[in-house]
Amino acid sequence: MTFQQQLRIPGPSPLPERVIRAAAKPMIDHRGPEFAELLADVTAGLKRVFETDNDLVMLTSSGSGGLESAVANLVSPGDKVVCCVCGNFGERFAGLADAFGCRVARLEAEWGQPIDPDDLSHVLSANPDAGVVFITHNETSTALTNNLPALSRVVREHGRLSVVDGVSSIASMPIEVDALGLDVAVSASQKGWMAAPGVAFVSISQRAWEFQSRARSPRYYFDWAEAKKQLVAGSTPFTPAISVIYGLQEGILMLEEEGLANVYARHRRLATATAAGLAELGFGLFAAEGYRSATVTGAVAMTGLDVAAFRTLLRERYGLVIAGGQGKMTGKMVRVGHLGFVNDGDVVQGLWAMENALDELDIAPADGRALAAAARHLAGEPAGAAV
Ligand SMILES: *Cc1c(COP(=O)(O)O)cnc(C)c1O
Repeated sequence: MTFQQQLRIPGPSPLPERVIRAAAKPMIDHRGPEFAELLADVTAGLKRVFETDNDLVMLTSSGSGGLESAVANLVSPGDKVVCCVCGNFGERFAGLADAFGCRVARLEAEWGQPIDPDDLSHVLSANPDAGVVFITHNETSTALTNNLPALSRVVREHGRLSVVDGVSSIASMPIEVDALGLDVAVSASQKGWMAAPGVAFVSISQRAWEFQSRARSPRYYFDWAEAKKQLVAGSTPFTPAISVIYGLQEGILMLEEEGLANVYARHRRLATATAAGLAELGFGLFAAEGYRSATVTGAVAMTGLDVAAFRTLLRERYGLVIAGGQGKMTGKMVRVGHLGFVNDGDVVQGLWAMENALDELDIAPADGRALAAAARHLAGEPAGAAV
């Protein structure tokens, strides 16, 4: 027997039937009128979700290509930059800046802890020559959401340029690019947008364009100026992932049919329920209280649990696919994704599978307590606060 797989990793996320069908449309000319219309419609939709009037370009790449484009377009070799690092994706930003020859001032927090706005203020004061600050909004590796309003306020007060990795947050939690004054924000199709991987999006403020015109890093495929020039003409510099963009158009339609406020409340509710269930099973919630992510829940395994064997059992017997730890947390924790096309019943199903798998592995009896804990937070309850 084969299962309908329950994909509960923090991206790629499950595809709704509607998105699959939309992505199966016949191919079109990416220099023709149909594509110009598609591009204009999707770009406008992305801007509504980003809550920005800034320019926004789509790049044909995974999310990391969007991050790389920010480095390539904003810095010159030898520039000092500040990278906020509290997990694997913060490391990626620092690694990119390093690869482009930047002098990187790292502001680090323990894994599972958020970046402290006061610490950021000190680092910026100590590095007056650092023009660009790289911030991970939702650190997917530790399942933690940083306090973006506070961090971006510090960056603004110090007159620096903010670059925000919102790959696993935008479309699933509020971002308010313009209200927060974020100069550059990046997301990607395969996370909360409910589309397949392959397209990254980058919003670019007027001030970021000023940095862009001065920066001397080598860039060609990811040149924002070229992307904007073509966007105005209704196309893209290179052949785009047209099928992914069709899927994305449907994903945005679904987000707006549900209403963004409802989408955000649903993600918070699922996160609260998942955290309650995992804690009841004996896992230790990893991210600091008050900073737990709405899109992914990370939890440290209890003594005696072989995480790799647990995940294999879940996949093979229950059709449930969850993620393990990354970097230094490999083998030590599980990460359960609940972003995009995921609802209350999916969370119940996932916890049911985990409870039974733990029983099979002789860790704890399956007595329904994780389901009961989760159910207290699910349908009918108002959107919960962060657990
Ligand atoms: C998924 C993700 C990315 C992008 O990863 P890709 O595999 O390149 O799409 C970047 N940042 C965060 C926080 C992510 O969760």
